[in-house]
Amino acid sequence: MKVTPTMNRLFSQVLAQAEQVKGFLAPNEGERLYRMASEACRLGPCLEIGSYCGKSALYLGRACKENSQVLFSIDHHRGSEEQQPGEEYFDIALFDARHYRIDTFPHFLRTLELADLEDSVIPIVATSTLVARSWATPLALVFIDGGHALETVQGDYDGWARHVMPGGYLLFHDIFSDPAQGGQAPYLVYQAAIASGRYHELPMTGALGVLQRK
Ligand code: MG
Repeated sequence: MKVTPTMNRLFSQVLAQAEQVKGFLAPNEGERLYRMASEACRLGPCLEIGSYCGKSALYLGRACKENSQVLFSIDHHRGSEEQQPGEEYFDIALFDARHYRIDTFPHFLRTLELADLEDSVIPIVATSTLVARSWATPLALVFIDGGHALETVQGDYDGWARHVMPGGYLLFHDIFSDPAQGGQAPYLVYQAAIASGRYHELPMTGALGVLQRK
């Protein structure tokens, strides 16, 4: 893996840890998450939707830890639509045969422990829309990377975008303008967010879309 000169020694440690964790985030996207969270931490706490096995929490959580902030990480840990048995992204290593369901929570907790992030990342095991309904803390960064069905991404956006404070960041993963590259739901919601006029569109990194609340 190419480590750019701007990455410090600690950060290359995070990259090495991330390589050991299951997930769908590229190293350059992880680095961008780290940088955005490092900036956002001056304003307040960060929150992500879609913990999975903790790959993105490594990057976001490291930035939070370095700045004495916290990352809330929401996931029901039962796997998204496309991770169920028989579906494209099913992974038998994450399958709890006794209860016949996906369970990523033990994997997520192990990632936090190995990366020494238990004092900076707060796991929330629930569906994101349930948590959003009673949420009241303004957030400096929200990263939407949960289920990719349109109603799921839309629900995450409707529930959480309003909690991003002015000057804070709203990030989306899996933004593909070309349908041949990937599903269109996150892209459609991302476009709707831009069309709302409430955000500045910042340059993307890979499939990571970055908006700043006006
Ligand atoms: Mg993703």
